Amino acid sequence: MPDIRTRFAPSPTGDPHVGNIRTALFTWLFARRHGGKFILRIEDTDQAREVEGSVDAIKESLRWLGLDWDEGPEVGGEYGPYFQSERLDHYQSAAEQLIDSGHAFRFEDERGSALKFAMPNDGSTVVSDVIRGKVEFDNSLIDDFVILKSDGFPTYHLASVVDDHFMRISHVIRGEGWLSSAPRHVLLYDAFGWDPPGFVHVPDILASGGGKLSKRHGAVSVNEYRQLGYLPHALVNFLALLGWSYDDKTELFTSEELIESFSLERVSKSGAIFNLEKLDWMNGHYIRESGDAELTDALLDYWCRYPATELPPEPDRSILLQVVPLIRERLKTLADAAERVPFFFNDDFDYEPDQLIQRKMDGAGTLRALSEAVKVVEAIEPFDGATLESKLRSLVDELDIKVGQLLGTLRVATSGLKVSPPLFESLEILGRERVVRDLNRAIHKLDSTPQ
Ligand code: GLU
Repeated sequence: MPDIRTRFAPSPTGDPHVGNIRTALFTWLFARRHGGKFILRIEDTDQAREVEGSVDAIKESLRWLGLDWDEGPEVGGEYGPYFQSERLDHYQSAAEQLIDSGHAFRFEDERGSALKFAMPNDGSTVVSDVIRGKVEFDNSLIDDFVILKSDGFPTYHLASVVDDHFMRISHVIRGEGWLSSAPRHVLLYDAFGWDPPGFVHVPDILASGGGKLSKRHGAVSVNEYRQLGYLPHALVNFLALLGWSYDDKTELFTSEELIESFSLERVSKSGAIFNLEKLDWMNGHYIRESGDAELTDALLDYWCRYPATELPPEPDRSILLQVVPLIRERLKTLADAAERVPFFFNDDFDYEPDQLIQRKMDGAGTLRALSEAVKVVEAIEPFDGATLESKLRSLVDELDIKVGQLLGTLRVATSGLKVSPPLFESLEILGRERVVRDLNRAIHKLDSTPQ
C-alpha cells in the first residue's frame, strides 16, 4: 500500500451532522490503523452557503471526540493551505491546463465567463470503490459540468480533485451521496493525467423509521449530543458501529481496540440505522465504567459548558466526588445528574409543608417523627451512613411507623425532592450540622402550618 493519507473535507455550513462525523471517524480510524495521516481540509468555496462559526464547531466536535488531525487548520502541514478559499490559484492553473488540453471550455453565463468540463459523448466511466467494487456510469447521462465559476471560485468537483491530488490523498472516504460525483472525478484525474486515489463511499445513516437521519428526527449534530450529556467515547463507539462491524456481535470497544480492528472491508454497503436506545445504553455503560474522579470531572466540565440552573456556578468538587458513587448507576446521560444533586450544594430549596406528610401519616405524627429524628441525628456517633441507617431504623420501630414513612419525610426535609440518591449515604455527605438544620426547618414549617 502507498503511504496512507486520508482527509475529512467538510464544508463550513453549520454544526457538523453526526453522519459527517461518522465519516470522519472511519477516515481517522483507517489512517490510524495504518499509521497514516489524517488531514482536515475546509471546503469553503461556496461562500453563499457558509455559516459563521462552523469551522470552530467542526474543530471542536473533532477535538471533543479525540479525532486529532495531522495536517490542517491550526496544525499546518507541508501541503497547505488547508482552506480551499486560500488555494484559488491552484484551481485556476489546473483549469487552464484543462483548457489547453481540450478537456474544458469557456462559456458565457449571465454573470460572466465560466469554465465547463467537456464530458465524453459516449462510453462509460468506471469508479472502483473499495466497498462497492466497480461501479459503471454511462457518460451520455452526465452533462458537461462547471469546474470554475465566473467569480473565479472552483466548484466542488475541481477543487476536491485538485486538492486530493496535491495533498497526496491515498483514499477518498466520503458519504455514499458523493458516489454519483465520482465518475466526474475519475474523468478529471484522467484528463490531468493523474492517478486517482482509492474511492470509498460509506453508507448513509438512516433514522429508525427509515429515511436519512435529519433534524425532524431529533438531535443531528455532534454538539447537540454533547449538550444532551453523552460521553465522547460513548458517541465514538456508537458511531463506529454505524455501518461497520468487527464480527457482527462485539459492541463495546475502546478507542485503541477500534483502531486495531477497523477495516474498510467490513464497512457495509447498505444504510446504517441510528438507534438512539443503543446510544443511551452505551452511554449508561460508559458512565458506570468511569471512575469517581473521571465522572466528577466529566460532570464539572459539562456544567461549565452548559450551566445548570439548579446548581451553583462552580459546584464544589470534593462534595461531588462523594456524591458521584450514589448517582452513577442511575444516570443515562450527564444531563440527568443536575436534578438529583442540587441539595448537596445548596440548602435554599423549598417545598410545601404538606410534602413532609407521608401516606397514612398526619401532621402530628410527622412532627413527632421529625423531632425524634433530630435527637437521633444530634447524638449519633459515628456520623456515617451505616450508623444512621441502623439508628433510624430502630426509631421507626419505636415510633411504630413504616420505614418508608420516616425516610420519605427525611428525604423531603433534607433534599426538597421526592426521589433522591440513597438517603443514608446522602445524609452522611450533608453532615450532621446541615441535617439537623434541615430537620429543624421542617419542624418549623409544619409547626407554623394550621392543622
Ligand atoms: N465538502 C464535501 C462535504 O461537505 C466533501 C465531500 C468529500 O469528502 O469529497 O461533504
